[in-house]
Amino acid sequence: MELPADLPATVRDARRIEVFTGAGMSADSGLDTFRDATTGLWSNVDAQAMASIDSWSRDPDPMWAWYLWRAAKARAAVPHDGHRAVAAWQDMPGVTVHVTTQNIDDLHEHAGSSDVSHLHGSLFSFRCTICGAPAAEPALPSLGDDPVDRIQPPECRICGNPVRPGVVWFGEALPHADFVAAEESMETCDLVVIVGTSGVVYPAAGLPRIAASRGVPVVEISPDDTDLTPVATWSLRTTAAVGLPRLLR
Ligand SMILES: [Zn+2]
Repeated sequence: MELPADLPATVRDARRIEVFTGAGMSADSGLDTFRDATTGLWSNVDAQAMASIDSWSRDPDPMWAWYLWRAAKARAAVPHDGHRAVAAWQDMPGVTVHVTTQNIDDLHEHAGSSDVSHLHGSLFSFRCTICGAPAAEPALPSLGDDPVDRIQPPECRICGNPVRPGVVWFGEALPHADFVAAEESMETCDLVVIVGTSGVVYPAAGLPRIAASRGVPVVEISPDDTDLTPVATWSLRTTAAVGLPRLLR
């Protein structure tokens, strides 16, 4: 794949980089949100219901089993060359890289990125449903065993209510500190790289528009056109695992 003529120099000269990633980034490591939600034991599960505080309040055990399984799968996943290229970028002299991800796995951190904001929370942060106190990571299931469809969540050590996954469910606010860090990065960066996101989930999808409205160059890496393509200076029609190493070679 040939890069557009003026893109390599723009990447080389950038000093404050914002990398904004979505589902396509994790899909290249075999983590597919939708497919994970609907295979095997959970083939008849309504993925929407698994991301609902109402479902959780009614009966947390099926959701707890499902999120523990997803956490185990995410922990077993391996970062691809795109994650590694982003992590290596921060080691260039004079360069800072902030990553904003909509993904709830920790593949960016696993690859070595040190400044990551998780707009939709994390499979590996647990807290009390009621008082919000952070909770220790529970034992994750072994992927070699058959998954079970119900596990009772542990109790909060402070108030005794159920511990819940630290992911953002429908209708819930985004984690404030992560969102503010992403906004600040969009307001101060001199290059944005958008990777593997359809750009349809708000408020996350509004963030790259902050940088674009300042006239900052925007590179999009996605196999298909997206809702963010109109704000991109360049669009590379390829996957995260292929496009990022090529961009940063
Ligand atoms: Zn509590």
